[in-house]
Amino acid sequence: MPDLNTAVLKDTPVVVTGASGFIAKYVIAELLKRGFSVIGTLRNPAKADAVSGSLHTLGVPVANLSFAAADLMRDDHWDEIVAGKRYVIHTASPFPVQQPDNADDLIAPAREGTLRVLLAAHRASVKRVVLTSSTVAVMYARDYQPGYIFSEDDFTDETRPGLTPYIQSKTLAEKAAWNFVKTKIAAPELAVINPAFVQGPALDDDLSTSHELMRLMAAGTYPAAPKVIFPVCDVRDVAAAHVEAMLRPEAAGQRFIVAEGETRLYDIGQRIVAECPDLKTRAPRFEMPDTAVRALAVFDKRLRTILPELGTHRTCCNVRARKVLGLKLRGPDEAIGSAARSLRALKLI
Ligand code: NDP
Repeated sequence: MPDLNTAVLKDTPVVVTGASGFIAKYVIAELLKRGFSVIGTLRNPAKADAVSGSLHTLGVPVANLSFAAADLMRDDHWDEIVAGKRYVIHTASPFPVQQPDNADDLIAPAREGTLRVLLAAHRASVKRVVLTSSTVAVMYARDYQPGYIFSEDDFTDETRPGLTPYIQSKTLAEKAAWNFVKTKIAAPELAVINPAFVQGPALDDDLSTSHELMRLMAAGTYPAAPKVIFPVCDVRDVAAAHVEAMLRPEAAGQRFIVAEGETRLYDIGQRIVAECPDLKTRAPRFEMPDTAVRALAVFDKRLRTILPELGTHRTCCNVRARKVLGLKLRGPDEAIGSAARSLRALKLI
């Protein structure tokens, strides 16, 4: 266990990129609670007050939080922001509800943005960068094989047919990061967090895709759910994972899957109904046969994204995160139930 109170670790602020993001706000909260000061980067500085307000609702004092403007697609400001810092946590990356026509709309900010942040960190002799990747950079390493459990040794092959631009963007960004630290002399240490589908309480109405999916389900957008199942995790555990990966010496050079159990899309709707029984007729009422999904996907672009998932059940191993980072992980009931309760409290469902 690292000594989390060592004053020397707290002598400079931690830089967290994409401070307006769902995961980033929880990472910032975790750092502030542990006595670190934080500089959160924003591509839209007008979001600063809203981010502070959201953290305030969590009961986190924000006196040690400041903001700086920086865009993943521009070189400006990154050098000044990371100068003299010990740690950088890079969470910013586009995660849209709908896949763009042009894959580069996601791949460029993900990969080039990661390299921009790493280059600045390298120039500033930052000790360690923690990167937010995803289980999507793990789970498409090989042909689907029932019963296979994916681990950190698996790396998605981004050239496989049928992968979405989002999967490609996360995989290419993570590969670029590992290649960077391997090939640069005196590169920062790198630790990577690979979360599954992240749920947990929403803090405000700036919804990430995780919560937007739930809002759409609760609004009656999907009368039926395609039969897909995927690994899940809770944002509070994802935040703890980032901070532990930043602090623990043995986390350097490793990637960590954060996932606890899986959920069917249909079950997300049922958990919303369990929290909000008045939404019974709006949540998906049955699971769609795969043949119907394939037929509808000819017309509906959103459905095309999930075609490769039909008939699969991918699972991930979380042993490394539990052993090396000391995490105790919340399961799908708590992750999805707390998300539904928060969306209801915010009057968004
Ligand atoms: P959000 O959409 O809530 O946050 C994304 C953040 O990235 C926002 O702060 C956004 O800024 C920022 N961003 C996007 N494009 C740019 C850009 N060009 N320049 C600067 N900042 C940019 O998503 P999450 O918090 O859910 O996701 C955060 C990270 O976690 C992403 O890397 C995502 O891929 C990863 N992840 C998420 C999972 C999930 O289920 N939520 C699962 C696994 C991984 P702005 O507010 O201005 O749009």
